[in-house]
Amino acid sequence: MINQTPQVVTIAGSDSGGGAGVQADLKTFQAREVFGMSIFVALTAQNTYGVQDAFAVPESFIEAQFNSLASDFNIRAAKTGMLADSAVVKTVVKMYKQVDFGPLIVDPVMIAKGGHPLLEEEAVATIKEELLPIATVLTPNLPEAEVLIGEKITTEEEMMAAAATLQELGAKNVIIKGGHSQKREASDFVLLEDGTKFWLTAPRIETANTHGTGDTFSACITAELAKGKSLEQAIITAKQFIQAAISQPIYVGHGHGPTNHWA
Ligand code: PLP
Repeated sequence: MINQTPQVVTIAGSDSGGGAGVQADLKTFQAREVFGMSIFVALTAQNTYGVQDAFAVPESFIEAQFNSLASDFNIRAAKTGMLADSAVVKTVVKMYKQVDFGPLIVDPVMIAKGGHPLLEEEAVATIKEELLPIATVLTPNLPEAEVLIGEKITTEEEMMAAAATLQELGAKNVIIKGGHSQKREASDFVLLEDGTKFWLTAPRIETANTHGTGDTFSACITAELAKGKSLEQAIITAKQFIQAAISQPIYVGHGHGPTNHWA
């Protein structure tokens, strides 16, 4: 059989402004040289000023997209992003269990940097109960980790304890991203399934071009796993990719600009 190109899918929301969501994921997949596909579960009317409007895709149409891809492609890794509400989360979990899309990277997107909610509050419980148990990798930022565990995280020890709690909730591997802390260094804490722990530390880059960084990071991990890289290597590559993307800004729009996907 022909050796097929690594194929991946993002299960997420559209950012019409092209900086985050499905668009950021597809740009990242292209940059990392894997074939990217998409299952749209929500749409946003969005630009660099923020999110003006959003709506969730009907469940039957989310299912149709899963079925279209599963009946044709050989998908090796998948990621989730914005999941909008509890009904979407339940549909994604149900469908993911029926298909064979490989490891699942869950980026538990909750609020856009501009403050607009991308997940209804009632869906947090569904994410904890149904999505975390099927997550191969969970990539919350600090505020998302706090919501998931229901506690404030202020110290490094609390970050490490939070990762362990998230593992207990079912996520096999956890990366808590420290970019939202006030420290001079942006440190992410990684806890792998076999108990391996490490910190990813990089100098903080002062820039307004951070829109879509979380999506880009998790999309890069997805791409590297599809190429057969170890999870540890995929995480390190994603950190380097995101640092390069942030440090070489591109200029579009008049607000909070996107990261650079071809840095
Ligand atoms: N819009 C969509 C559709 C997203 O998936 C995300 C992802 O996190 C965002 C907006 C938020 O982007 P940011 O918080 O980086 O501005």
